[in-house]
Amino acid sequence: MKPAPFAYLRPATLEDALAALAGQQGAKVLAGGQSLVPLLSMRLAAPSTLVDINALPDLGHVTVTGDGDGAGDGVRIGALARHAEVLASAEAAASQPLLAMALSHVAHPTIRNRGTTVGSLVHADAAAEMPMVLRLLEGSVDVASVRGRRTIPAAELFAGPLESTLAHDEIAVEAFFPALAPGAGVAFQEIARRHGDYALVGVAAHVETEGGEVTRARVGFVSVSDVPVVVDVTGAAQDPEGDPAGAALAELEPADDIHATSAYRAHLVKVLTPRVLADAVHHARQRSA
Ligand code: FAD
Repeated sequence: MKPAPFAYLRPATLEDALAALAGQQGAKVLAGGQSLVPLLSMRLAAPSTLVDINALPDLGHVTVTGDGDGAGDGVRIGALARHAEVLASAEAAASQPLLAMALSHVAHPTIRNRGTTVGSLVHADAAAEMPMVLRLLEGSVDVASVRGRRTIPAAELFAGPLESTLAHDEIAVEAFFPALAPGAGVAFQEIARRHGDYALVGVAAHVETEGGEVTRARVGFVSVSDVPVVVDVTGAAQDPEGDPAGAALAELEPADDIHATSAYRAHLVKVLTPRVLADAVHHARQRSA
């Protein structure tokens, strides 16, 4: 199918882009186009105007701040940084290893060459890896509009299926993924029909340890609910007889769709959760050794 007619703007400054969005209720931002263009072609979206942000300056950065000890340390990713650029950054992987672990599962290289990490966050697909990673790491997104700037914590970014809490006239300019603190570890695994497909289920773990013992354990799930979901399983992870997957499933209602049944997704959660937690604890102990 072909998209419905739309006007196309390619502003050269952020101010012009924000003014264009503010002036038209039906306008939409175009970043990498890897999600939006298929939606246009299928006529699942029909914006009056596309505001292409690809000519805006100073938004292509992948910047690492601090050495991982401080509260503001981490990876800052500009709105025009492509998944491939984030994945290729050794500094980003050193600061927050979960970025590269998860990004290597995002689609195929051609899509990662064009799709932006910030665009994936705003698109808010519960089947996408990076929204869940942002939630698990307790990161944030900085957004701008003609009214000024604000920071949206990850816990407040995802409103529903394919729905973020950005207003129609806001542009996400940067995402912040906190660095992995000393004593912490992360891990990620997913099951997809083919490598690069959206996950049937993906699971990431973030653990904090002291003296090798787990003090906090959280697990995030891709493609399980209709929003990116994170469950605290600290108690179950600390108990040698504990069942972290059972603790997680008590808070989840695995989705049932054409890709997998709810029962199969629950099975994958049961299998992957203990594996990923064990990997994260191993990672934390290795980093502390
Ligand atoms: P666009 O498509 O340009 O925009 C997506 C939405 O976000 C639009 O509503 C747009 O208005 C909005 N938006 C984008 N950037 C901003 C911004 N800075 N400020 C405000 N609004 C903005 N993703 C995965 O995570 N995992 C996968 O396995 C996966 N597989 C894929 C397979 C295929 C075949 C394809 C085509 C895509 C796949 N994707 C996958 C999606 C891909 O990662 C997209 O690149 C990403 O979801 C959206 O980024 P984008 O820059 O292309 O955004």
